[in-house]
Amino acid sequence: MARTRRPLIAGNWKMNGLKADGMALAKAVADGVKQAGWTDREVLICPPATLVMAIADAARGTGVLVGGQDCHAKASGAHTGETSAEMLRDAGASHVIVGHSERRTDCGETDATIRAKAEAAWRAGLTPIVCIGETLVEREAGRTMAVLETQLKGSVPTGATAATLVVAYEPVWAIGTGKTPTTPEVAAAHAHIRRVLGGLLAEANGVRLLYGGSVKGANAAELLAAGDVDGALVGGASLKADEFLAIAKAA
Ligand code: PEP
Repeated sequence: MARTRRPLIAGNWKMNGLKADGMALAKAVADGVKQAGWTDREVLICPPATLVMAIADAARGTGVLVGGQDCHAKASGAHTGETSAEMLRDAGASHVIVGHSERRTDCGETDATIRAKAEAAWRAGLTPIVCIGETLVEREAGRTMAVLETQLKGSVPTGATAATLVVAYEPVWAIGTGKTPTTPEVAAAHAHIRRVLGGLLAEANGVRLLYGGSVKGANAAELLAAGDVDGALVGGASLKADEFLAIAKAA
């Protein structure tokens, strides 16, 4: 089954990238992807909202997909400072990250909020990448699997299919810290996620499960080879074209 899930390597630039640097980084990634000519994996970059349209325009035809880092649940209205899924789609995005732990923490997003955002992504024709993951306190209390189950049940909307959902397992304590779970720990978490998804949707075996948290060129091959890992969500290392391309190559 694993081979029918095309690996997805997604870069989350977070709040990084002014126009000149962002365009240059996107071009370097697109050049590398074009040169590699991969048809067996997908490469996605999620720049800040200010750059989605310019990068989507520049990346068209290169094989690089572009996504947003968040969206509002509503299509439009009096929500100052927010970006809707429809706006991202209109700007050329194909995906949107929802429920990143930084938004859960910084913005108090709940599973219910994230579920509404994933539904908004569908409404606009985007694929949501739903992020879940335990904190260090939860891991040390032996609650990892229970937390993942609660987050999945609360944030994955009813009716998800293999084509309309990507899940990213991102242990909060591994994000931006240089620390990662061991390969067996990643495999155990992903197997658990797939089991829980199996109780929620018919096509759980086809849903791509990304690992995220301090993935870099040097550890990508090992992490991506863990059971049930179908790609990576990459933060810091996605800001360096060579490093990001090395991760895509490892897939
Ligand atoms: C992330 O922010 O989604 C992430 C995985 O960050 P990093 O790769 O820097 O740990």
